Formats: sequence, C-alpha cells, structure tokens
Amino acid sequence: MSDISCTILSPRTRILTFDDNISVLLIIGSRFTFLCDTHLGPESMKKVQNELGTISHPEQMVIFNSHSDWDHVWGNCEFSHNLIIGHSTCRDRLKERGEYDLISHSSMTRGIVTITLPNMTFDSRLTFEEDDVEFIYAPGHTIDSSVCFDRKDSILYVGDLVEDPIPYLDYERTDLYLNTLEMLLTFPADIMVSAHSGIIVRDLIRANIAYIQAVQEGKSIDNSRFGAYDNVHQLNLNTRIMFCYEKEVRDILKEKFDFLSFWSLFPNFEKKSSDELEINLKQYLMEIEKVRHHQ
Ligand SMILES: [Zn+2]
Repeated sequence: MSDISCTILSPRTRILTFDDNISVLLIIGSRFTFLCDTHLGPESMKKVQNELGTISHPEQMVIFNSHSDWDHVWGNCEFSHNLIIGHSTCRDRLKERGEYDLISHSSMTRGIVTITLPNMTFDSRLTFEEDDVEFIYAPGHTIDSSVCFDRKDSILYVGDLVEDPIPYLDYERTDLYLNTLEMLLTFPADIMVSAHSGIIVRDLIRANIAYIQAVQEGKSIDNSRFGAYDNVHQLNLNTRIMFCYEKEVRDILKEKFDFLSFWSLFPNFEKKSSDELEINLKQYLMEIEKVRHHQ
C-alpha cells in the first residue's frame, strides 16, 4: 500500500501528498514530466516514481525546486542526472546552508541524502514553451522562492509562500514578500497549491498578508489562534533578529564568516524570548569585536 495520496487536478497535473502532509506537484507535459520539489529524500522519490509507473508519461524528468529549504530538496539526489531547476539564489543558498540543515534535521531524512544543487538556474522567469510550464521568481518566504505555473490548466504551485495559518519568515525583506503575495492575489490561476496546505484560496493569501504586515509593524500578535503553529510566530520573530545580527557578523568577520557556526550558536533559538536572544547576540557581537581588535 502506498502512503502517498494523489489529488488529480487536471488530466496532466496532480498533487502527491506524503504522510507528513507535505506535497509535491507533478505535471505530465508532452515533452517533459515536471516534478515540483523533492520532499525529504530518495525514498520519497521512489514512491513518486512508483506512482508515475501507473501513468503514461515522457521518460525525461525535469525537477523544479520552489526554494532550497530541506523539506523540498532532499530528494534532488535521486535525480542528479536530470535537469534540476531553481532560482540562482536557490543554488547559492543550498550551497551555503545545505549541510547545516542536513545536520540540524538529520532524523527527518527519507533514505540517504546527498545535498544536490540545482544545475540549471534562472533569474526572473524560465518557460518550457512546448509544455506550457513556467517558473517565476517570487521572493518572500525565502530569498530564493519561486512558483511554477501550469499555463495550460491554469494551476499555480506556490511552494511555501502561502501557508495555513501563517507562513515561515525566512527572509528579512518582508516588503518583497508582501509584493509577491499581492502579485499572487491577482495571478491568473484557477487553482493554487501550497506545499504544506494543499489547495488554497485567496482569503488565506490575504490572511498571510495581514500577518506579515503586523510583524513588520511590530504589532503584538496573539499566537494562541495559530493552533499547532503557535511556536512558528516566535520562530519568525527570532529568525528576523538572527538575520539582523547575521548581517553585522558578516560585516565584521568578512571571509571568515561561517554560516554553520553562526546559525548553530543558539540551538533551538525559537524557544528563547526575543529579548533573551538579543542579549545573547549582543554579547556574541562584543566578543568577536574584541577578538578582532586584538588581531
Ligand atoms: Zn517547507
């Protein structure tokens, strides 16, 4: 029995959802078979291939990474001989933080994961004309977020840009995130699919916009209404603080900056209050300044 569930959206496009509720999108083009995101590893991808075995499809697979977060790219290694497409910053970001994420979340892998970078990158847009499939840069959730538009059936895969009830804020430019979400609101798609929330409606995009605006304005937010996501809000606030200090630390350490050591400074930093995290980071900043002055 397969523990992957399939939602058929059109004769050629379907959502495949794993037991942890994370989805990937499959588009059976006439020339290529497109797979948006690769879940947690090779074992998950074998399940996708089993599913594909029951459908007639072009042999050649094209992989798309909606962004470089670990829960969307660990299955890339199953397709190292295929085209793996991502935004240019997706390749950079995965190169920089891939090992850190693999260490931090090692218990989540499905099969043996080797970090495999996108081998084809784009800047604003990339179109497979004959298959009517388009990849569009849409920064916000992360610097490298992109969407996949099935133009033929008007289906848009948004990755983690929209999430119920709130998105993860993993990029300091919330202004760009808001632009992207406004763009999605008017995007000519009949169906939108989120990697963690399945088929979504525009009201959820509006709710995500309201949340991000409130965070941006420093408003106090009652996270009890977020249910299982109540800790995501604190994580978001603390990630923003970490980003802010990361910039300063990079400026001080220059080429000596090490992503893994900086982000491993405070394991489970989402569990700290924002005040405590700021105090810890200020101390760290003072220490590295001291070391620099003694050099
Ligand atoms: Zn995700």
